[in-house]
Amino acid sequence: MTRLHAPRIVYVNGAFLPFEEARIPIMDRGFLFGDGIYEVTAVLEGRLIDNDPHLLRLDRSLAGIGIRNPYSLAEWTAIQRQLMRDNALEEGLIYIEVTRGVYEREFTCPPDIPPTVVMFTQVKPVRDNPNLTRGAAIITVPDLRWARRDIKSTALLAQVLAKQEAKAAGVAEAWMVEDGFVTEGASSTAFLVTENDEIITRPLSQAVLPGITRMAIIDVAKAIGLRLVERPFSVEEIATAREAFFTSASTIAMPVVQVDGRQVGGGQPGPVVRALRERYLAAVMEQPREDAR
Ligand code: PLP
Repeated sequence: MTRLHAPRIVYVNGAFLPFEEARIPIMDRGFLFGDGIYEVTAVLEGRLIDNDPHLLRLDRSLAGIGIRNPYSLAEWTAIQRQLMRDNALEEGLIYIEVTRGVYEREFTCPPDIPPTVVMFTQVKPVRDNPNLTRGAAIITVPDLRWARRDIKSTALLAQVLAKQEAKAAGVAEAWMVEDGFVTEGASSTAFLVTENDEIITRPLSQAVLPGITRMAIIDVAKAIGLRLVERPFSVEEIATAREAFFTSASTIAMPVVQVDGRQVGGGQPGPVVRALRERYLAAVMEQPREDAR
C-alpha cells in the first residue's frame, strides 16, 4: 500500500498548510457529487512541464461546467512554484482541484458560492518509470464514462474501476473501448504506429480528453517528419501495429508491448516512441528551472 507521504505542505483556499492540518468541509460538492475539475502538471528537474496548456485546459474545463476560475494563469503558476519550493519538489506531480464549493447537500446551488481550491505535490519518478525499458502491458475494458470526456471532471469512477481491473490483471494501464474502437487510456492518450509508419491517434472530440502530452508529442512527431493521422482505431488493429504507446503528463510516452495478453510490435519497445520521448525530454530540459525564472 502506498502510504501518504507526509510531511507535505499543501494549498487549500489561499493557505499553505501542513498536510495534516488541511481540511475540507464534508458538504463540499467535490466530495458529495464529484462536482469539480482537476488538472495535473508534471515536474521534472525543478521544471513545470507544459504548464500553460494544462492551466488553459483547466480554464476550459471549469467554463464547461460553469465554475468560475478563481485565479489567473500567473496566480496559478505562482502557487505551483511556492508548493514546489515548500516541498523541495524536483520530480513528480502537482495536482490542482477546483470544486463548485460548499453548500447544503442539494443538487443545485447558487452560482456565486466560492469555489474550493486544493493543490498538492506528489513525489514520483516521471522520467525513470520502471515500465519504460521493458514496455507496458495493458488490457482493454469497456468505456463506461459520460459523454463529455473532454472535460477533466473529478468524477472518475469509471477510470478507477478500469485501473483496478488493470491492477488485478497485473498490467500498467487500461485502454477503454466504445463500439469496437479505442477511445483512450484510463489516464492516458492511446497511439499506434502502423505497418505504413503512420502514427495514429483518435481525433479530439467530446469522446476524449484533449491530452496536453498528446499535443506536445504530436508537435515533436511533426517536427521530426513523422506522418500523423488522427483517426479512431479498432481493437483488432492493435494486433497489426508496429508499435503501440500511450502519453500522459505523468508517463510522458510509454511503450506498450502487450495488449490483453497478446504481444504487440514484437514484444519490445519500438524506435518511434523512443525517439518521440527523447526529443520531447530534450526540448523540456532546454527550459529554465522554475527557481531560475
Ligand atoms: N486521457 C485521460 C482520460 C486522462 O485522464 C489523461 C490524464 O490524466 C490523459 C488522457 C492524458 O492527458 P495529459 O497528457 O494532459 O496528462
